[in-house]
Amino acid sequence: MDEKRRALLKGLPKIDEVIGNLEKKGIYEKASREIVLETCRDVVQKLRNAILTAPDKQLPVLSAGVEAASRSVGARIDDLRRCKLRRLVNATGVILHTNLGRAPLCAEAMERIAEVGRGYSNLEFDLVRGERGLRYDHVNRLLCALCGAEDALIVNNNAAAVLLVLNTLAEHKEAIISRGELIEIGGEFRIPEVMSKSNSILREVGTTNRTHLSDYEKAVGPATGVILKVHTSNYKIIGFTEDVDLLPLVALGKRRGVPVYDDLGSGCLIDLDAYGLAHEPTVREVLATDVDVVTFSGDKLLGGPQAGIIVGKKEVITRIKKNPLNRALRIDKFTLAALEATLLHYLIPENAPRTLRALKALTEPLADVKKRARRLLAKLKKAGLPNLAYDMYEDVAAAGGGSLPTEDIPTAVVAVRHAKMTASRMEAALRRAPVPVIVRVDENEILIDLRTVAEDEFDLVVDGLGSLAEA
Ligand SMILES: *Cc1c(COP(=O)(O)O)cnc(C)c1O
Repeated sequence: MDEKRRALLKGLPKIDEVIGNLEKKGIYEKASREIVLETCRDVVQKLRNAILTAPDKQLPVLSAGVEAASRSVGARIDDLRRCKLRRLVNATGVILHTNLGRAPLCAEAMERIAEVGRGYSNLEFDLVRGERGLRYDHVNRLLCALCGAEDALIVNNNAAAVLLVLNTLAEHKEAIISRGELIEIGGEFRIPEVMSKSNSILREVGTTNRTHLSDYEKAVGPATGVILKVHTSNYKIIGFTEDVDLLPLVALGKRRGVPVYDDLGSGCLIDLDAYGLAHEPTVREVLATDVDVVTFSGDKLLGGPQAGIIVGKKEVITRIKKNPLNRALRIDKFTLAALEATLLHYLIPENAPRTLRALKALTEPLADVKKRARRLLAKLKKAGLPNLAYDMYEDVAAAGGGSLPTEDIPTAVVAVRHAKMTASRMEAALRRAPVPVIVRVDENEILIDLRTVAEDEFDLVVDGLGSLAEA
């Protein structure tokens, strides 16, 4: 080791000195002794490593006295105290953006979470009988009424629902599925892998583009546990294709005494055709085929909290409820409270798109989105931020979350250009704003899609762009 490095190592601050210095600055009001001590050790250790490994020309900048090390520790403690899971503005136009938390919750759901979370609740207590109750029972009747189901069960998310249903109906047995439906949803959710984790045996039938009823008929036998149909949520096969509708599959299941299960993915409770969108079978329509069990997400087209909803025949749901795996996948009280509040909006189905933000974004007439774009444009121009130029035009948004994959949803965007900054640098800077604004990049401008930006978020957009102007 050379002289220079040896001298730098000798000059490293002592842990005790750094702690003493921080103590004077009231560090223990921010974090415990253990945390401060460990952070100090880590900071000094990193400095030591840097001195040992840095190239010669970087050495001069590595001297760090007690003050510098204390600042470093202080900054790390401050960072630890900042909440990392934060709100942001979704200006991407992707309505059910899985990375951005999918469906925003309605005001009632937020109130119910606060009320139920603040104190105790009857989560698993039957107030009439004064004995233990079931957590699912609270929303059971409501769900059954809305879907036309005999019984219902709710778990952590739809991936958990798929796992639980397959494990209950087809453990060590075959689950028959069309090759055209062996999908990957993203985020590691692949139907064949979930099947293997559920201990059911994948029995593929048909081909990628065409599967016939006779393919299923030939596959059904003593080893069959379930016939599975999966909504091809995020893609579509077009051209020379054929798949088998649920109705003949249900008839086949009945003839051969095999349960039929439809994983709907999004699970819509209202008629989207009425809003000019493609027809998405509603859960009620699907259950009307007399299918045994259906699963769907709480935070996709339903517009509520993350949850996996299982509805269907009483006999099948009873079996699923008894599966010990159910306990591991169970829903928590906040989700239940939020789900109940969300579902209440569907009692009058026409009201749901007015009150549930994801549904509103999906169904809002283009004219209204454009009006909002014009108002944002006016507000931005009035703000007079330096270096920025604006434009407004029509574009296409997307449902996201593996819902309505081929649907182009018309939208209006405000495009922003910066005189001295590339669009990708603007995008990155907006991500680091105090309230981040997530935008689309299009060549030399960024796009703010008004389909996912609400009027009460305009100030945040202006603030975000204001931080750009300063940069
Ligand atoms: C989205 C989806 C899932 C997974 O649901 P999560 O709510 O993400 O757990 C499962 N199956 C289908 C068909 C889906 O579209």
